[in-house]
Amino acid sequence: MIGDKILEKLREEIPQVEYERYIKCLNFDEESSMSDTKVFTAPNPFIANWVKIKYAQKISKLFETIVGISPTIQIDVKSNSEVKSLKNIQESISKTHNKQQLSLNINPSFTFDSFVVGSSNQFAYTTALKTAQEPGIIYNPLFIYGGVGLGKTHLLHAIANYNLNRNKKVIYVTIEQFMNDFTYNLQNQTMDRFREKYRECDILLIDDIQFLSKKNETQTQLFHTFNELHQKQKQIVMTADQAPKMIAYLEDRLKSRFEWGLTVDIQPPEFETKIAIIKKKCELDGVHLKPDVINYIATKLDNNIREIEGIIIKLNAFSKIVNQEITLDFTKNVLSDHIKEERKNITIENIIEIVSKELNIKPSEIKSKSKGVTIANVRRIVIYLSRNLTLNSTPSLAQYFGMKDHSSVSHAMKKITSEIESDENFKLLIENLKNKILNS
Ligand code: ADP
Ligand code: MG
Repeated sequence: MIGDKILEKLREEIPQVEYERYIKCLNFDEESSMSDTKVFTAPNPFIANWVKIKYAQKISKLFETIVGISPTIQIDVKSNSEVKSLKNIQESISKTHNKQQLSLNINPSFTFDSFVVGSSNQFAYTTALKTAQEPGIIYNPLFIYGGVGLGKTHLLHAIANYNLNRNKKVIYVTIEQFMNDFTYNLQNQTMDRFREKYRECDILLIDDIQFLSKKNETQTQLFHTFNELHQKQKQIVMTADQAPKMIAYLEDRLKSRFEWGLTVDIQPPEFETKIAIIKKKCELDGVHLKPDVINYIATKLDNNIREIEGIIIKLNAFSKIVNQEITLDFTKNVLSDHIKEERKNITIENIIEIVSKELNIKPSEIKSKSKGVTIANVRRIVIYLSRNLTLNSTPSLAQYFGMKDHSSVSHAMKKITSEIESDENFKLLIENLKNKILNS
């Protein structure tokens, strides 16, 4: 293949070590190549960038000698196995929506099956399930309270989903929707419609009751609705971020009624439950995360499951955009905005270790006095990063690298700075290295 031939030719023009380090691991991607663009793949983004910076021009010239035109050289990163795309997931979810679910605003994926049970939510889960199975009979009303993102809405939807196929009339609303419905029907003099909707159902599910605070007219409406449903032994389930008695500006008669049945709380998940929830979400979303990544997410992120879910989606999306596997390093990078971790003391040794790994050059070579072009350039990168990421002064860096004096360090800094300014790829390479170091 022409691509391979070109790389063989390049071998004759560059030092053997360079060839072994960067060129040997490239593959020619014939399918993606066109006459004016030739595509190669590299095993990681660092090598891809490095080749782009150092050899793209040479490779293009070699093409010219053989085929007459000098193409643009594109270096991609080898793609990973196909993961189900986000779009596919969303499409498959929306296909399973049935009309009733849509009109009720019920998320079909919030079921009892998809809810992970641990000691933090066991009681809420069990009582919600019993309520779904025998509405109006055991706990009426059922009042579930707890912090944000702990699964309250999920349980309400699970009760709805459970009963949609059992010929029960289920209404799910947030208290805000209830309030809007009320004011709308009041203004339009259609209160009979409002009453029919809320008082002729078998199960009324009301989310986020805490927003009822200070809404006096709505409180009155809810009071009457409650009484009528309760009298008819129809089920009422409510959620809030606090226990009824803690909600400010809520009429006492409502508070006491909310406590007639059973009040349960959901606590933040313990570590094992968090791990289990992450695994379950991955399974549902078709995302594969390695155990060390799952552990990291569970340890570093707070208990809001909604946030954890968002992170899984973000990781998956990013890994596709940059075509990288979701490794621990990758995860640390992506999560760096979310996690306020104390920055470790970074040393020159840390920097050398990471740069040497990423750019395939031995630490001893970086520290040597070799004047080989690549090694000298990598050494300058290390100096630049050390000056920026550690507290070392220019004289101490000069001493570390056995340079004449601090002016040699300044010279190296200038060279890298101007290269960053003039070359987008080089800038990207440095940014990526910085990220790796900061998140190591
Ligand atoms: P809340 O209403 O308490 O703020 P949600 O019910 O909206 O929280 O939950 C936020 C997200 O976390 C939802 O996507 C939900 O499916 C998920 N979630 C919360 N707890 C669990 C759990 N125990 N098992 C599975 N998913 C959960
Ligand atoms: Mg909610």
